[in-house]
Amino acid sequence: MNLDHNIGECSICGQGLLEIVATKDGSKLLIMCDDCGIQWPDPNSAIHSPSTTMVSNKDRYNKLVDATIEEIISIGWKDYLNE
Ligand SMILES: [Zn+2]
Repeated sequence: MNLDHNIGECSICGQGLLEIVATKDGSKLLIMCDDCGIQWPDPNSAIHSPSTTMVSNKDRYNKLVDATIEEIISIGWKDYLNE
């Protein structure tokens, strides 16, 4: 995982970083904790209401890759990045 593309700490497990990741074909971006593996649909959900907006177990994505900075800018999430 590329730690340059994290948006802060995971408040669920308290030790992972929230990474911006993408599906392998790049069609969808989402947030995933690099430690506990919980996923969220967008940065706002992961930061402000993590316990109620997490993606359910059955809907979790597999085979995610690091989102590129171009993808992050394109979707409008750049301001969330921890720099
Ligand atoms: Zn976590």
